[in-house]
Amino acid sequence: MIVLVINAGSSSIKYQLYQMKSETVLARGRVERIGMDSAIVTHEAEGKPEFREVCEILDHTSALKRITDILVHPEYGSLSHISEIEAVGHRVVHGGESFPESVVVTTEVKQEIRKLFDLAPLHNPAHLMGILAVEAILPDVMQAVVFDTAFHQTMPKTSYLYAIPNILYKRHKIRRYGFHGTSHMYVSHQAAALLGRPLESLKLVTCHIGNGVSCTAVLNGKSYDTSMGMTPLEGLMMGTRSGDLDPAIVSYTMAKEELSINEVNSMLNKHSGLYAVSGGLADMREIVEAMNDGDKNAKLAFDMYAYRLRKYIGAYAAAMNGLDAVVFTAGVGENSPQLREAVCEGLTFLGLRLDRERNRSPERGERRITEDGSPVEALVIPTNEELVIARDTYRLALNRGKGS
Ligand code: ADP
Repeated sequence: MIVLVINAGSSSIKYQLYQMKSETVLARGRVERIGMDSAIVTHEAEGKPEFREVCEILDHTSALKRITDILVHPEYGSLSHISEIEAVGHRVVHGGESFPESVVVTTEVKQEIRKLFDLAPLHNPAHLMGILAVEAILPDVMQAVVFDTAFHQTMPKTSYLYAIPNILYKRHKIRRYGFHGTSHMYVSHQAAALLGRPLESLKLVTCHIGNGVSCTAVLNGKSYDTSMGMTPLEGLMMGTRSGDLDPAIVSYTMAKEELSINEVNSMLNKHSGLYAVSGGLADMREIVEAMNDGDKNAKLAFDMYAYRLRKYIGAYAAAMNGLDAVVFTAGVGENSPQLREAVCEGLTFLGLRLDRERNRSPERGERRITEDGSPVEALVIPTNEELVIARDTYRLALNRGKGS
């Protein structure tokens, strides 16, 4: 079966085409700057030349039409006919409390995604546009949605409730949801396989460290607590997001600086984190480079970022009353030995003994970076959210086939 995986953003669509029998990626690409004067389309397929064009693409439906045209293009494409695509899987950031698992798209599911616009105004509207675009271009194809929040629906009340009046939870569903769930779930399964132990017996802290950063206490295979909250702003320090702060800072800053709600939101989401502390750098590669050149602000940003990660790992070890392994994943987690070292350095008290050479080795892929016999392991596991989406979509398509 061939499955198309789609991650629709407000002005972009990223996609991967999977052959599910072998779980291989036949093609991948993206359309960026949708709705602007000149959209950029990039596409690469197994054994084919790379494709790039700049053209006018006004909306998500036109973007998807362009994608499907390229997928069947004789020179750049991988398919002879578009009907070879049997199912489409979408990433959806917010599933609220309605979706503890992936589901087939129906009218009710679309309504629920729409109801959650308030909780994820930057993401869910774009995902729905992606779903509607597929309906328009591939009307007979089954669609599934895979939620970033679903994995965290196992959290107990002690983890997901905020200590504020309960009426706010009842009326507005204000609670911790957590994000990056697909990634945390994937790497925890891979970690158990790498350790050769059943996931159901493990206490893991999975650290997804990309532009957005979150870590999760995975207890016996289930999300027990996670650092992001009602929105992806809470928790760790990120590229441009503040992470945790005293909530009183919000009203105080609004009063002192005469900021509107939008302005304070923008400050905390887009002008904080590494970017604010370093004085303009949000990318970890640039931070490390500047730090190595003696830039004190970059060093402070790096140290704060690592320190906060260490605090969360310690807190989650306490929350689970133990720890078997810390897992590093995503752009920074997979590629920055300096960051991993700075985080692990202060965890020797838990029994984590980092092997500096293993940590710095240019080896890619899944690997252990602790000394042999270290009571607590540290692992690097490249994440693969698209594969999880493809697998869930495939499973739902097979089940539907059986049911019909
Ligand atoms: P997203 O959250 O957007 O999916 P990624 O997981 O791709 O992001 O992570 C992006 C981050 O990874 C950027 O801050 C980038 O600097 C960082 N990164 C990528 N490669 C390296 C590297 N070799 N060293 C340090 N950081 C890296």
